[in-house]
Amino acid sequence: MQPPATQREAQLAPVIPPVEPSARFAARVASGIFASEALILFVLALIPHANEPLPARFVIPAACALCALVLHLTQKRVGPAALQIAATCGTLLVSLHVLQSADGPSLSSEMLYGWLALYAAYFFTARQAAAQLALMSGAYLAVLLASVPADDVMGSWLTLVAVLFTAAALVRGVRDGVSQLVQSLLEAARTDTLTGLKNRLALEGEIEVEIERALRSETMLSIVIGDLDHFKAVNDELGHRAGDDALMRIGRILATLRRTGDSIARTGGEEFTLLLPGASEHESYLVAERLRSAVERDFAGDAVPLTFSFGIATYPAHGRSADSVLESADQALYAAKALGRNRSVIFNREISAIFAPEAGGRGVDETHLATLLSLAEALDLRDRGTAAHSRTVGRYCGLIAMRLELPPERVKRVEIAGVLHDIGKIGLPDAILQKPGKLGRSELAKIRTHPEIGAQVLSGRGLEDLRSWVLAHHERPDGLGYPAGVSDKAIPIEAKILAVADAFEAMTTDRVYRAGVGSRAARAELLGCAGTQFDPRVVAAFMVVLDGLEREADAQELSAV
Ligand code: GH3
Ligand code: MG
Ligand code: MG
Repeated sequence: MQPPATQREAQLAPVIPPVEPSARFAARVASGIFASEALILFVLALIPHANEPLPARFVIPAACALCALVLHLTQKRVGPAALQIAATCGTLLVSLHVLQSADGPSLSSEMLYGWLALYAAYFFTARQAAAQLALMSGAYLAVLLASVPADDVMGSWLTLVAVLFTAAALVRGVRDGVSQLVQSLLEAARTDTLTGLKNRLALEGEIEVEIERALRSETMLSIVIGDLDHFKAVNDELGHRAGDDALMRIGRILATLRRTGDSIARTGGEEFTLLLPGASEHESYLVAERLRSAVERDFAGDAVPLTFSFGIATYPAHGRSADSVLESADQALYAAKALGRNRSVIFNREISAIFAPEAGGRGVDETHLATLLSLAEALDLRDRGTAAHSRTVGRYCGLIAMRLELPPERVKRVEIAGVLHDIGKIGLPDAILQKPGKLGRSELAKIRTHPEIGAQVLSGRGLEDLRSWVLAHHERPDGLGYPAGVSDKAIPIEAKILAVADAFEAMTTDRVYRAGVGSRAARAELLGCAGTQFDPRVVAAFMVVLDGLEREADAQELSAV
């Protein structure tokens, strides 16, 4: 369904300038008219003429030629007032010529008024054109009074004036019709016919303008690109007609929920782009999340529920030109898809490097492990204000693996997995990770996606082992864990190590929502949950590791004393 016409006009207004001929073009045409007039009058002057000396007959053609030349030379600088003056000069010259040739060889020289009338009707405003026509009518009347018998004046004058006004009205009508047609073609070229929103062409023009404005006023500007998740399934299962209906529905939701001043366009089949002048990345994130959850709610009961993935990028932080901000938003969208869809992702160079299509779009191989490790620490910093958590978990994991006598190569891998275990949290919003109070059901459900997102991040070649351990690090031997709820035998020992190390570290450190407990209480909790939440062998090994670490710490304290 199309939005109301006024809404469409409001959306299009800044993009399409009114279709008016330029002053330069009007000056060129006027120059051409004067030149043609000069030529015709020059030829007429050459025809033998009894009443007038030869040189005098060339004065008017010469004046017309001069006007043509001046307009030609000044066409770039000419303004509306100069064009009015030129038309007035034209009327005076034509009138002088008509007067001069009243009983001469050209009885139809009045026709020259026709050019001026048509010119005024096409290039001037209605009021200016009417003024020019009135001037012509007055001048012609004066000429007639001065040159023909009084009885002939009215007939000749009325005939010419009627012809001039009718021709001018016709030209005006044609001009307005063409102008409206061009306007509606331009509008159609910038409007998406299915949703009535702007299309890519219109939005790209607007982004250029807004980036210029942001540059001058030193403000921010964000671009949010949204792509519907698995939209193909709607077409495949319900047909294209239903797909189109869904797209129109989405268009209406986006148009209703956008902030005033933001633009929305359908920039691809099932891709929509928002332009948010003045918005920071966080404000844009909130807008994207609002739209995302509105669409998710609206389609929740449908035969094929639809969700959105959004990529967000901000000028100037993520790009200094329209193209580069769009490119960054696109990369963030790519990451949102790779992280499991139905989420909004703010552009981040490291995340994008991992998910870039050139990198296969599916994680990295071992050579990128260093990037992943620093990303895990950066996430830790965001989540807890310190990069210590992932490192400590990594260290505990390595020690437990050693205690369990895993081969040295695996010990190293388990340690790396410990550092990376929560990398899937890049797919979760700050609002959930840093929430001080208790989490709601939907928030908990989001948190529980982090092992799967982590597995997606680690889906590159050579990372298969880490991937499977991170995926299972919240599974429990009693089968009550997530995401798969598998039981004891299906959980790799390495994932069980991650679970114990992660839980101990989490219990003993302070978080925004609770203070950490002491080592003794945390140990008791692990022992209490051995067999249900944790693997007893791993817990036992960790107790020995902790004993060793505590002895080491005591020894260091003693030597310091
Ligand atoms: P992803 O989550 O990766 O974005 O999956 P997807 O299925 O949304 O993406 P994909 O690019 O595979 O498919 C896009 C689909 O959108 C395929 C195409 O038929 C459909 N589509 C594009 N434009 C229109 C349209 O105007 N009408 C309808 N009904 N379908 C459209
Ligand atoms: Mg899609
Ligand atoms: Mg975890």
